[in-house]
Amino acid sequence: MTIGIEALTDQHLVARERVDELRRVAAQFQVALTDEVAALIDPTDPHDPIAAQFVPSAAELRTAVEERADPIGDERWSPLPGIVHRYPDRVLLKPGLVCPVYCRFCFRREQIGARGKVLGRAALERAYAYIREHPEIWEVVVTGGDPFLLTPRRIAAIVGALAGIEHVQVIRFHTRVPIVDPKRVTAALVDALATKTAVYVVVHANHPRELTGAAKDAVTRLVRAGIAMLSQSVLLRGINDDAGVLEQLFRGLVAMRVKPYYLHHPDLARGTGHFRGDIAAGQELMRELRRRASGLCQPTYVLDIPGGHGKVPIGPCWLHRDGTGWRVEDGAGAVHRYLPSVGDPE
Ligand code: SF4
Repeated sequence: MTIGIEALTDQHLVARERVDELRRVAAQFQVALTDEVAALIDPTDPHDPIAAQFVPSAAELRTAVEERADPIGDERWSPLPGIVHRYPDRVLLKPGLVCPVYCRFCFRREQIGARGKVLGRAALERAYAYIREHPEIWEVVVTGGDPFLLTPRRIAAIVGALAGIEHVQVIRFHTRVPIVDPKRVTAALVDALATKTAVYVVVHANHPRELTGAAKDAVTRLVRAGIAMLSQSVLLRGINDDAGVLEQLFRGLVAMRVKPYYLHHPDLARGTGHFRGDIAAGQELMRELRRRASGLCQPTYVLDIPGGHGKVPIGPCWLHRDGTGWRVEDGAGAVHRYLPSVGDPE
């Protein structure tokens, strides 16, 4: 069940004195939590990393000049409703814009929720036609909102339509459902993903406490059906900007058979400045993570360039030019000279 502001106070997760503040935020940005997420909150901890992700705060009412309604420029690359075609070989397909929870740092916070439209049948057909007419599209990322909030029947219809387009070789779903609303991963939903085309599911998780037994079971149901699992996380100040927390998160995901894929630097969404740290500090965390944990636990730290210029890895870089050779840093921080000999072509 999804809970709102009144339930947050009823369940003593938010003090009654804060209700006005929460209402002012909710007038601008969507608010919702699931019961599973609410149960993870420690109301005695003012810095609880779960509450900080989902419970609104007055800090969201502060907007910095560089923040934008559409920080990654989806609109610029949207040739028709529901499609974003930013990179040549892949498109986003957004069949709906509702989520089971509303993350306070969400990059699409001004497009999603009640104000967002679900694509009707005709709009979806136009989206499929666009994909069919573009043979360069190799991968379709089904996102939103959260596509796992659609009924299994609608998910099966989307999978069937995309699998029927010969040049679409990969269907990728982006979802928070297995983590925040795991009981929705039913046998019917898992069946809806069954197809000969490669299906990847990318789950969104930011803190090891989100990896509950129920979340693990939901992921196991997907893995057993042959779904390849990846994760994406956001580097959030005061929530997971700590090497130990990231290590636990990524080790936990890998142990669930989920390969950490992206660690996003937070986007310039309005009212989210309190979540953003410094990129240099993020690079240092990635260095420390590589020193501590297996390569399987290393996501790529990325920045979506504001304005729609795409996503790029932002380091750290272990290799630096040094005259005719290179300086390369090892896991312990020691620097070595590397002088490769370049062979002549045959
Ligand atoms: S689940 Fe994703 S799209 Fe939905 S609110 Fe969170 S970050 Fe935004």
